[in-house]
Amino acid sequence: MTTTTEITQERRLVTAIPGPKSTQALQRRAEAVSGGLGLTFPAVIERTHDAIMVDIDGNQIIDMGSGIGVTNVGNTASRVVENVIEQAQAFTHTCFTVAPYINYIEVCEALNRLTPGTHKKKSMLANSGAEAVENAIKIARHYTKRPAVVVFEHAYHGRTNLTMALNSKNMPYNDGFGPFAPAVYRMPLPYELRWIGPKESITEDALEMITQKIEKEIGAKNVAAILIEPIQGEGGFITPPKGFLPGLCEYATKNGIVFIADEVQTGFARTGNMFAMEHEGVVPDMVTTAKGLGGGLPIAGVTARAEIMDSVHAGGLGGTFGGNPVSCAAALGAIATIEEEGLIARAQHIGQVLGDGLRALQAKYPVIAEVRGRGAMLAIEVVIPGSKGGIEPDAAAVAKVLKHCTENGVFILSAGTYGNVIRFLPPLVISDALIADALAVLDAGFATL
Ligand SMILES: *Cc1c(COP(=O)(O)O)cnc(C)c1O
Repeated sequence: MTTTTEITQERRLVTAIPGPKSTQALQRRAEAVSGGLGLTFPAVIERTHDAIMVDIDGNQIIDMGSGIGVTNVGNTASRVVENVIEQAQAFTHTCFTVAPYINYIEVCEALNRLTPGTHKKKSMLANSGAEAVENAIKIARHYTKRPAVVVFEHAYHGRTNLTMALNSKNMPYNDGFGPFAPAVYRMPLPYELRWIGPKESITEDALEMITQKIEKEIGAKNVAAILIEPIQGEGGFITPPKGFLPGLCEYATKNGIVFIADEVQTGFARTGNMFAMEHEGVVPDMVTTAKGLGGGLPIAGVTARAEIMDSVHAGGLGGTFGGNPVSCAAALGAIATIEEEGLIARAQHIGQVLGDGLRALQAKYPVIAEVRGRGAMLAIEVVIPGSKGGIEPDAAAVAKVLKHCTENGVFILSAGTYGNVIRFLPPLVISDALIADALAVLDAGFATL
């Protein structure tokens, strides 16, 4: 078998997708694996490198999803692979709270250095984004001694019981899994395309509405945390209007509320900054990270002002696997790759090249209502032109376009509360040639409508 670095960075189909071997493997999957798990791309992967996935039938597929914003540094990035091998040979587990090791401390140091703000910070590590969010809320409640948590429409924070309570979308995440954790209050989100009020004053109006609701329905002094994704991920890359995040952060600070940025999907150079809150100079009290942090291995972090993190008694936080040494080694490799390969600038470049391509498609196809996002986190929202307000969601069109992309070896994810958003999360090392090829396939997909 060839090594992954020998995989040419080009799309190449040798069978239909799924091919015969994938078809057989997917039958075994249907027999053995819970039907509760979804399936986006019907090809079974054998090897990957950078932005190309090779399936077991030998097809080379362009990866426009990075395993949902995880392999920002590219799949099998050399620093990640080398660090993992070296750490696995040294030791694979002790449990950090039982017998500590240095690379956990180094990941925390890196998170403290890289997250927004120059104040004294501390971190803890966990296994997944949901677990990071759970810990963030535990810590904020412990620090403030208040119960309530404020979240937003179109939010997604995970699949555990508390994080399901924070989610805005019932199907498929929450349906039938309740009852959910109490003291969670959902606020309107200024979603420009679908905002009912005047668009000129959207930021002021949304902030006024939210602060009024907090004052009247909860009481600001009962609120432990305001939790928000700087760009809604699963919600469809909804990018709040200028001034909204700074205004919300300011309100939280004034009222002793911990302002938590859920940067699980937006973090680690994805949006053309190390963290998305930096685009408007917002310094959150607390940041949750996961996805892109580990370069493909499971790891998550909570980083906050030192006094907040230290408000918890020893033993109040932890877990058997949190900050596993192999995952920590991978995270240090991923962070080094971002910094040494200039991937923040690369994300900005992708934002330009891919953004230009998507805007050209928008000019060609009236079903594309909007191109939005930042850096290498871009999306298009698909509607029925001439429908009520011109914005009736068209999830069926998205499904049809993505089916065409799948059959032609381009992996692209959908998103959105209405399932009518196509989102792009390519590895930041993707070549311009692969972006152009993916755009051409997408163009042909829209032409089939
Ligand atoms: C994916 C995601 C999570 C949950 O992360 P898991 O690792 O899947 O638990 C939380 N918040 C945001 C913003 C996410 O995109």
